[in-house]
Amino acid sequence: MAREEGVKFIRLQFTDIPGILKNMAITVEQLEKALNGELMFDGSSIEGFVRIEESDMYFRPDPKTFIVFPWRPRDGAVARMICDVYNPDGTPFIGDPRYALRRVLEEAAEMGYTCNAGPELEFFLFHLDEKGRPTTITHDQASYFDLSPIDLGEEARRDIVLTLEKMGFEIEASHHEVAPGQHEIDFKYSDALDVADKIMTFKMVVRTIAQRHGLHATFMPKPIFGINGSGMHTNISLAKDGENAFYDPNGPLQLSEVAYHFIGGVIKHIKAITAVANPTVNSYKRLVPGYEAPVYVAWSCRNRSPLIRIPAKRGPSTRIELRSPDPSCNPYLALAAIIKAGLDGVKNKIQPPAPVDKNIYHLTPEERAELGIDCLPGSLIEALAELEKDDVIKDALGPHIYEKFMEAKLKEWDEYRTQVHPWEIETYLTKY
Ligand code: GLU
Ligand code: MG
Ligand code: MG
Repeated sequence: MAREEGVKFIRLQFTDIPGILKNMAITVEQLEKALNGELMFDGSSIEGFVRIEESDMYFRPDPKTFIVFPWRPRDGAVARMICDVYNPDGTPFIGDPRYALRRVLEEAAEMGYTCNAGPELEFFLFHLDEKGRPTTITHDQASYFDLSPIDLGEEARRDIVLTLEKMGFEIEASHHEVAPGQHEIDFKYSDALDVADKIMTFKMVVRTIAQRHGLHATFMPKPIFGINGSGMHTNISLAKDGENAFYDPNGPLQLSEVAYHFIGGVIKHIKAITAVANPTVNSYKRLVPGYEAPVYVAWSCRNRSPLIRIPAKRGPSTRIELRSPDPSCNPYLALAAIIKAGLDGVKNKIQPPAPVDKNIYHLTPEERAELGIDCLPGSLIEALAELEKDDVIKDALGPHIYEKFMEAKLKEWDEYRTQVHPWEIETYLTKY
């Protein structure tokens, strides 16, 4: 394929623990060696990987992930492959997020299940200033499903969709989102590992193409106060012997026992999952009432205010939609945590609470308490405290990633917590 496409450079990619895509370029002459897993890199410079004294790591490119970058020159083309990371002794590296997801999917496979996922990624397109630095300014005044007035955003979105298609994505929908400058592009669901790879590719493509249109694309969850933030709703289903395992035409709401137990598991572990699926300080500025993002732990088939919605489709499309994750998460770790929680529900037959079909935001605190509706963690530090208590979700990450993740996130929290915010100056400087 590399020869046929005239590829000269191949980028070997992997994702670090904080969820940032990394790569090393090789020339096509090194491809044979790379495919044999003989290419080494220094893991000590990668955040959360290894200490300096044990820093040799090996790439094992996954041939299924070979894609040519359509925006790079045709002559001397550039392709990429996503890699698994291995230790010098030939064992998989336990700090590799892709391996964490693989482990959870193996556990599902041992139970007879394959796991499909479909994300809905939202993002903002902002203008650059005269020096080319990103701003939070958009001239776009459009809202949900609008045809925007001729705006750079519309052109960029079109170009993003066409590029993704050339890279093998099946794009199901793309539209302007509720907030000015906010967009959503949805691609077809697939098995969870492939989807995690695709989420990383998607973010890279969106940012790259936006830049070529003179815009900055951001997946920061809440870039602007007072308007909607960006979520990454995650649709999930299990299949057994090729059949959707969440569908039961005779079950209550046409859902199977497995679906109920999966929901039960996700709800049981959601607070710890939140630390992984909403891993930045900024994530918690999105999870507040009034902006279509979830705050309360509940599920429903009817309305969109809860954490988990069951879309109306049944049969092979039966799935749950978890609405809390945001696109700042590491998708390998977020999917590992969510699926692990669901499997725990299936294994231990965890019953979910009754569905809540009212608008939860209109309930009083007393009514919520009566229905047993809990809240998601309100800040990164609260979520981290929940993760610390949850052995199932810790196990999804594995000890190495858990430790490094905690260490990095506690530091992030501490840096944030000691800042003096502009809001404080505005509120207190003249008052006291
Ligand atoms: N942007 C909203 C969020 O923060 C979701 C809007 C929608 O329902 O698509 O999750
Ligand atoms: Mg949306
Ligand atoms: Mg949705």
